[in-house]
Amino acid sequence: MINKKNNKKNPKINPFWYYGGVIFLFILFQSFSGGLASNEVNQISPSKFFEYVSQGDVEKIDIVNKREVKVYLSEEASTQDIHKGTVSPYFSLSGRSANYRFEFGDLQNFENNLKKKEDENNLSIDINYVTEQNIWGDLLLSMLPFVIIIGIWIFIMRKMSSGGSGGGGQIFSIGKSKAKLFDEKTDVKTSFKDVAGLEGAKEEVQEIVDFLKNPSKYTSLGGKIPKGALLVGAPGTGKTLLAKAVAGEAKVPFFSLSGSDFVEMFVGVGASRVRDLFKQAKEKSPAIIFIDEIDAIGRARGKSNMTGSNDERENTLNQLLTEMDGFGTNTNVIVIAATNRADVLDKALMRAGRFDRQIFVDLPDVRERKAIFKVHLRPLKKATNLDVEFLSKQTPGFSGADIANVCNEAALIAARKNKKSVSKQDFLDAVDRIVGGLEKKNKIITPDEKKAVAYHEAGHATVSWMLEHAAPLVKVTIVPRGQSLGAAWYLPEERLIVRPEQMLDEMCAALGGRAAEKVIFNNISTGALSDLEKVTKQARAMVTVYGLNDKVGNLTYYDSSNGNEYGFTKPYSEKTAETIDKEISSIIEKQYQRAIKLLEDNKSKLIELAEVLLDKEVIFKDNLEKIFGSRPFDKEVINS
Ligand code: ADP
Ligand code: ZN
Repeated sequence: MINKKNNKKNPKINPFWYYGGVIFLFILFQSFSGGLASNEVNQISPSKFFEYVSQGDVEKIDIVNKREVKVYLSEEASTQDIHKGTVSPYFSLSGRSANYRFEFGDLQNFENNLKKKEDENNLSIDINYVTEQNIWGDLLLSMLPFVIIIGIWIFIMRKMSSGGSGGGGQIFSIGKSKAKLFDEKTDVKTSFKDVAGLEGAKEEVQEIVDFLKNPSKYTSLGGKIPKGALLVGAPGTGKTLLAKAVAGEAKVPFFSLSGSDFVEMFVGVGASRVRDLFKQAKEKSPAIIFIDEIDAIGRARGKSNMTGSNDERENTLNQLLTEMDGFGTNTNVIVIAATNRADVLDKALMRAGRFDRQIFVDLPDVRERKAIFKVHLRPLKKATNLDVEFLSKQTPGFSGADIANVCNEAALIAARKNKKSVSKQDFLDAVDRIVGGLEKKNKIITPDEKKAVAYHEAGHATVSWMLEHAAPLVKVTIVPRGQSLGAAWYLPEERLIVRPEQMLDEMCAALGGRAAEKVIFNNISTGALSDLEKVTKQARAMVTVYGLNDKVGNLTYYDSSNGNEYGFTKPYSEKTAETIDKEISSIIEKQYQRAIKLLEDNKSKLIELAEVLLDKEVIFKDNLEKIFGSRPFDKEVINS
């Protein structure tokens, strides 16, 4: 851990001493304020006192704070049996200990009574008037609020800093970076061979590896060294893995942390963490700093910021920029950052000399998925006839992390079944589980509900089969999982440009579920919520983002510089808002009617499909082919 070195410099407060100290002070306070000299003296009643006075036992009294009397007996009286043990064995600040004490009501009264008794018995008692100040008690009492406040403060600081890498007890580590260090000695064993696919990205980072390994080769020709690279891509696509592989290939230390690690509730902490991070990296240079989720600090400054509450983040970002500018090209520290939203990042981050290289890390295609499967199948004991090609075809839209997860899950499933090796079915179960969550074997579904789900899903499948631009189907299931009761999965085509007819076909297919309920049962249900959500979003995007609606026109209300966050004001008039709403609902209604028409025309096939689905619960593309004949639009067969 990085913080180790710093710990020595920091005075460290052991929590044991801290809490012990507080308890000690508390006890001290209690004993002083409770009356230093009173607890150890025997209490008597005033009448008893006057009795002793009459007997002539009392030599002297102290009247303390006009409220209390301390009684000192004469020496010979003290030795008498009735007074035995009345002198406290404890040390007292006032010198000689009193034998008794008591409180009286009214001073005047008491004095008169005493005078009378003295006269009666012809005595003279020494009377001292003293004011006893409980100095220690008062002092502690006045300090108590501070003690409590400091105590609470220390407690909070400890709470906050103990989340970091250093562990508990570090009050002063709050401004230290929370980066995790992977040394050449420890963990950086990742190499490019662990990163499957991502050929383009690997090629681009290769340059960074070369530079870290052999900087003079570049600098001797006067070239400038890159300071930063930005990896842009969806979560789980292997950005961290790639950065780690760069460090592993170049055999340099790797500092890893997340953008949110800089963010803290105290002003100035983020900036100081950045400073600390770069200091540590420079000490270990050549080194790589990897900042995941850089958007946590790197969001565009001063946009949609009405409260000014983001000042702290801005400070942190400024410090990061300063550090990147500040370290000369010869310090050999390269910053690799990752984000899935490059569009919201501050432009200043992207300027030359900072993250001037952007490397896109996409979701893997079929071929890359196969390669990733191979990497993660390596450690598994798999069945000999396992078809990796088939697995990669069954996992459209999966990221590298999802695939790693599938492999692990499949191994667990196989182990649960006490198998000797992991087979194809285990992988398929794992895929289902990862997509849909745990299978709910005991979810109670009435036969009627099951029928409704089957027709709904068959509706999706039928409509998408009939439409040229709808995505090809992979499988349909009515096994309840997680939140859903059934699902139809498609292989999304990887398109760079989407045409309106493609969007409309997809919306029509998404509405196919509800349309089937309408056509068959003449009744609709709440089961189409997520379909409707998807369709509504898409229709809105057509109208307001992509300019694909002729009533609203060729314009967009999308603002790339702030990620389409309007804040309170919409960038269009009330009248336009009305048009937009009307157009969205008309687009959706048209597609719904289209789906209904399609299903009515193919009602017998729809019923046939739904019945197969009810029977088998899971159907694949070949089942549909049996009913509908081969799909004329499919160029490639995806499910062999
Ligand atoms: P990101 O940082 O993009 O969110 P990670 O790099 O943390 O994703 O990926 C998580 C895990 O997914 C990795 O540890 C690795 O096991 C697996 N993974 C992701 N992409 C790949 C890939 N291209 N090749 C091999 N494994 C991958
Ligand atoms: Zn649906």
